[in-house]
Amino acid sequence: MHVNFYAGGTLDRTAPLRRDDAHFQALLAEPVTRVVAVWRDRNLIRTDPEPAAIWLTEPAAVAEAVSAARTVALLGRGDGCPYVAVDLSELDDPTVLAGIDRAEDFIGLRDVSAAMNREEAALLAYAKGLMFWHGRHLFCGACGAPTHVEASGHVRRCTNPDCAVQHFPRTDPAVIMLVVQGDRCLLGRNRRFPFKLYSALAGFVEPGESLEEAVIREVLEEAGVHVGGVRYHSSQPWPFPGSIMLGFHAEGISEEIVIEDDELLDAQWFTRDQLSRIDGQDMRLPRSDAIARQLVDAWLRGDVAF
Ligand SMILES: [Zn+2]
Repeated sequence: MHVNFYAGGTLDRTAPLRRDDAHFQALLAEPVTRVVAVWRDRNLIRTDPEPAAIWLTEPAAVAEAVSAARTVALLGRGDGCPYVAVDLSELDDPTVLAGIDRAEDFIGLRDVSAAMNREEAALLAYAKGLMFWHGRHLFCGACGAPTHVEASGHVRRCTNPDCAVQHFPRTDPAVIMLVVQGDRCLLGRNRRFPFKLYSALAGFVEPGESLEEAVIREVLEEAGVHVGGVRYHSSQPWPFPGSIMLGFHAEGISEEIVIEDDELLDAQWFTRDQLSRIDGQDMRLPRSDAIARQLVDAWLRGDVAF
């Protein structure tokens, strides 16, 4: 099994205990509880000497953060310590809280995660993704009434008694695929990429569509290339902001590239030889913490055959 970055954490999510509110309240008062702070989609991280999570651990700081938070959620238990996420986004200045020294310590996880301990990165990604979902579901999608938090932060329920719908944290499935054909693979340069980064094509799965169908449709839409076989590789939590990337290799059965999609600036077939020389030039491949790079590396190693 291939385990991608942001996955493979050893945290026990303690899901059976989430409905036990007394358990959650007791756990918040445990002296070893670690609070994972999220502020406006950023995580609390120190960068010196290397990127690492900052937990709030002092009981007074924990209590203060929990009472100031818009949302509090139980992440689980690891190394004997409960981990609790708090969303502090409603504070204009999070440094009013004990244990938070500088607003600049709230950092975009993607900016620093490649140099982080994988276990910590997985935990921060979990907290970030869960809090993003909460922030987008403050009101009921069925009737528009406010929602409130239940199940230790893993459910939001509509406060309208005639509705009372439960909303569960969602993750949007996206397919990402390396299209290969003999000794070549297809990479595209997204309009949003800040430099000449060439990566695997990707897109969201639509309702009423299988993953394989999404792969075939996206490649045709984005690059005009027809796909035959589709083979699953691995998946990666991608809370940027709320996805899971489902990685595939796909067999290209046509050659001509036609870009009609607004998302791509360019797409090209690259040989193995070209790819081995691409990094460090003016073009770049994705970083190794991204599943796109793992798809490329697996193909370069010869792990993929159609
Ligand atoms: Zn409702």
